[in-house]
Amino acid sequence: MISYQTWAGRMRLKLAALICLLTASMSASGQAGDIEFNYLGTAGWEIKSGGLVILVDPFISGLKYGLERSIAEREKSRSLWMADRPVPDTALIDKVLTKADFILVHHSHVDHILDVPHIAKKTGAKVIGTETTRNMLRAQGVPDAQLHAVRGGEDYQFEGLSIRVIPSLHTAFEDKKYFDSRRHGPEVKLPLQRADFIEGGTLMYLIRVGGYEVLTMGSMNFIERELQGLKPDILIAGVTNSRRHIYEYTNRLLAATGSPKIVMPSHWDISPLYRNEAAYQQERTEVLGPFVKEVASAAPASKVILPIHLRPIAISGGRVEE
Ligand SMILES: [Zn+2]
Repeated sequence: MISYQTWAGRMRLKLAALICLLTASMSASGQAGDIEFNYLGTAGWEIKSGGLVILVDPFISGLKYGLERSIAEREKSRSLWMADRPVPDTALIDKVLTKADFILVHHSHVDHILDVPHIAKKTGAKVIGTETTRNMLRAQGVPDAQLHAVRGGEDYQFEGLSIRVIPSLHTAFEDKKYFDSRRHGPEVKLPLQRADFIEGGTLMYLIRVGGYEVLTMGSMNFIERELQGLKPDILIAGVTNSRRHIYEYTNRLLAATGSPKIVMPSHWDISPLYRNEAAYQQERTEVLGPFVKEVASAAPASKVILPIHLRPIAISGGRVEE
């Protein structure tokens, strides 16, 4: 059994020691308020600020840790979404998420979109994603009123926040041979098979909320020219070893985004189901250790905060709190 609580307690102390106080005003507006980040696993995040809850690629069904669940329960959850006909673990979703105002989807692969219909229908959240994302969600009963299809380049003002949509690229899978130009049109046949979860194009998002600018990624690639001139305070960066397929990944990413003050790695937990704390620590060390060094070299003033699943990271007035 995993002693998650004990382990989380130890990590909390380590995190406290790591935390750097960022006293400078962090945003262009200089009015940095409160913002909280909760890593949901895979490329999923819950971001809370100004009374709003913004979800990014929420994939609770893929959670491998937390909630003191037994190995048998986790195996069952995994077998649901790994099946030929993936289904979300709605009980687990309901346990973790209760509210959402916005759901941002980077692309339509199963580990980014599977849980979105259930969450959207239950919360009434506005969903932003590609045309393929929109069509897949609409087919599954998400009301049109909640759906915003985008292509990249939009910069939308909503009540309490604005969201800029940035064209991007998917991870260079299969030794740089991955390419998928398929899109879903309005007619999407149900039930969805695993093969129906096509990429449908890839996006990034710049979220301006609570006096912060947060740039999100759901893959290990980006279009450099689309990022140039952006000055996010916080970068949620795609970080698996597949970034090594990309030329000077970390250097170029940080240079193009003006060396954000805070960098949080995402989508790094792609190994098969973690079975124990040792495997979890090994993954963190193997994947995140080199990335931390890359950031230290590329942008010494940037601070990397290593997220722990379901452990909120609070930032208040530009200061990281435990
Ligand atoms: Zn993908």
